Amino acid sequence: MDTQILIVDDDDTIRYLMKEFIETVGYKTVTAANADEALQALEAEKFEVIITDIMMPGMDGLELTEVIKGRYDAEVIVMTGYSGDYSYEEAIDKGASDFVFKPIRFEELLLRLRRVLRERHLKKELQNLAITDGLTKLYNSRHFYNELELEVERSHRYHHPLSLVILDIDLFKQYNDRYGHLEGDKVLSKLGKAIRQSLRKTDSGYRYGGEEFTVILPETVCDEAENVAERIKEAIETKILYPEGGESTHITVSIGVTQYLPGEKLTDFVKRADKAMFSSKQQGRSRITVFADPSLSQPSQENENADL
Ligand SMILES: [Mg+2]
Repeated sequence: MDTQILIVDDDDTIRYLMKEFIETVGYKTVTAANADEALQALEAEKFEVIITDIMMPGMDGLELTEVIKGRYDAEVIVMTGYSGDYSYEEAIDKGASDFVFKPIRFEELLLRLRRVLRERHLKKELQNLAITDGLTKLYNSRHFYNELELEVERSHRYHHPLSLVILDIDLFKQYNDRYGHLEGDKVLSKLGKAIRQSLRKTDSGYRYGGEEFTVILPETVCDEAENVAERIKEAIETKILYPEGGESTHITVSIGVTQYLPGEKLTDFVKRADKAMFSSKQQGRSRITVFADPSLSQPSQENENADL
């Protein structure tokens, strides 16, 4: 994706020159003559960096910086004409990533812009690493609870349906014992891929535990969630595996599906999905159980040590 830069300055000449220069080095730009125009542009498009003048009629560049940092995921570089008027500390305090003096020296601006972009990408990469499971490339369980909390809140506020799928590999301990953990890891990695490829745009997949996975499906009722679960199940179970030192084989999964009930606790929601999954195990594995009604989720006897 192209890197978009928003240039904000009330001086037509500066705006024009900066646009010319920044586009010459390969970035896409949009210009705005004041804070209002800048905020309109930010509503309409995504920008990685905003370079803004401080002294402008109406909302000044520092206020604008504060608004941008509160509302958008973008970096800000501020420019000021009189070195005495605003301090570097003030700009950084409002959330700016850097500060340049006018008259602008374009070579210097470019160095600063590139540094800000580099740091932004590094920050994003680190953020991603912290929420991703390395083996399956799905999100990890910590991220699962954060996202589920957000989605439950959203579902509550807008009265939108929300569904949850929990999936567990059948007899995975047996598979590991028979072929070794390296082969087991290959299965997990393939399963991660199968899940990622079966999700719709708004769904998100997580490695919840060792061989247990979850999918959060916003704006989705139970029946639709069951369709997604069917797709995942088929993608996994039709994959032929060739473990080293064994015949070709395949794995099956047990799945539980449920929908959020208005007002219920997050943990009850997860527990019900888990119970539905466990019911699939008890009924012979390789199946999907849907618990739409909470009365169906009576506690069942679980055996923690069993290879399910
Ligand atoms: Mg100005």
